[in-house]
Amino acid sequence: MNKSSRTVMTFSGGIHPLGDGKSLSNKMAVVPAPLLDKYFVLLSENAGKPPQPVVQKGDKVRKYQLLAAADGFVSANLHSPTSGEVIDIRKVPGPMGLPAVAIEIAADGEDAGEPPFEPITDWQNADPEMLKKRVAEAGLVGMGGASFPTHVKLSPPPEKKVDTLILNGAECEPYLTADHRLMLELPEKVVRGAAILAKILQVKRAGIGVEINKSDAIDALNKFGSRYNVEIVPLKVRYPQGSEKQLINAITGRKVRSGGLPMDAGCVVQNVATAAALSDAVTEGIPLIERIVTVTGEVVVEPGNFRAKIGTPAIELVKLAGGVTEEPGKLIFGGPMMGFAQKSFEVPIAKNTSGILLLPTKVSLNYATTGCIRCGRCVQGCPMKLMPCLLSTAIEADRFDLAAQNHVMDCMECGSCAYVCPDHRPLVQNIRRAKAELRKQAAKGN
Ligand code: SF4
Ligand code: SF4
Repeated sequence: MNKSSRTVMTFSGGIHPLGDGKSLSNKMAVVPAPLLDKYFVLLSENAGKPPQPVVQKGDKVRKYQLLAAADGFVSANLHSPTSGEVIDIRKVPGPMGLPAVAIEIAADGEDAGEPPFEPITDWQNADPEMLKKRVAEAGLVGMGGASFPTHVKLSPPPEKKVDTLILNGAECEPYLTADHRLMLELPEKVVRGAAILAKILQVKRAGIGVEINKSDAIDALNKFGSRYNVEIVPLKVRYPQGSEKQLINAITGRKVRSGGLPMDAGCVVQNVATAAALSDAVTEGIPLIERIVTVTGEVVVEPGNFRAKIGTPAIELVKLAGGVTEEPGKLIFGGPMMGFAQKSFEVPIAKNTSGILLLPTKVSLNYATTGCIRCGRCVQGCPMKLMPCLLSTAIEADRFDLAAQNHVMDCMECGSCAYVCPDHRPLVQNIRRAKAELRKQAAKGN
């Protein structure tokens, strides 16, 4: 935030995906999803240790009631999305392709419950530690995808001098519009959330980075920016503008060193949806039990944005969007670049499910490769300044040592290299394999 807010900022590298699919849903106002009969609240939905259930089969629960308590520091509380009864704690289809344990709630139709926390209306003068405690109590996690417990990111060690808070409102993934609609429809919540985060971190500089294809959201946020001392920073449309290191570089000009964290560059990055949830937790005393989800794709009858309770099965949201025009070829949680392909429509949404994307059968990612033509497009497109072609060749020869020497662990799996590769080489798959192998070797102490 060292330049005028009218300057359009960006980073070097990256790509501009053609036909980003956002127009399917970006004009669709957020619609609250109706109450369902059942919810499946996943236990292992945050990065870190899953929380431990504090309810058991047969218990009656109220909306907002604690269902599972954080198990250690890198863990997050889970609260009931509605009132009803715990009818089971069992395995259901999970978002990572494997069965995952969920607390199954049969709704009683009342949706009754009281906010469990005292509102902190005078948060401007509140103790930052008290506000941080609220972040943990409310079960906040990174809602942009990583699902990392928010209170952990707000606890930098004393030797790391954080002076800047950045909110990620870039939403650079094709098709997704949930953050766009949030910023447009509830701008004050987002800006207030940024100000509360800045208060917790005790930093003077706070900014929200938004790509300029969301100019209406930029205008909406700007109405509140000066009131809360938060700068709204327009960003060029470029993928992956919203990844932490690129966002920091675009907004502050700082670089996060290889293997480093945002706090090494004096920054903490949070998602706009997390900030809005924090505003609710502080000013209204309510925990995180719902989020906006984009349901979209060319085969969806009426793509849209829905406010859904955590634990809603994907199929229910697809039905709300009118169903499908043809059998989809692929179901993805998140966007097409960094999202996760799903095997079942029964997978419930978690706190980090920003979108449900249905791609038609004709979209196939299985191309025959004929060999690298050394065109260098992957190198140009890599926002981390890696050499994906070289990494991939080394990995295909099982030379994980070479991949490590060439910083494979810095890859954030954004998919830009694979997107531009004319040979459709499986660059990201190879890189993921190398990272897994190197982690395995590190765990064994090799
Ligand atoms: S090498 Fe990794 S960081 Fe670079 S473009 Fe490919 S996926 Fe993205
Ligand atoms: S983009 Fe594909 S073909 Fe071109 S250098 Fe990279 S891996 Fe080789």
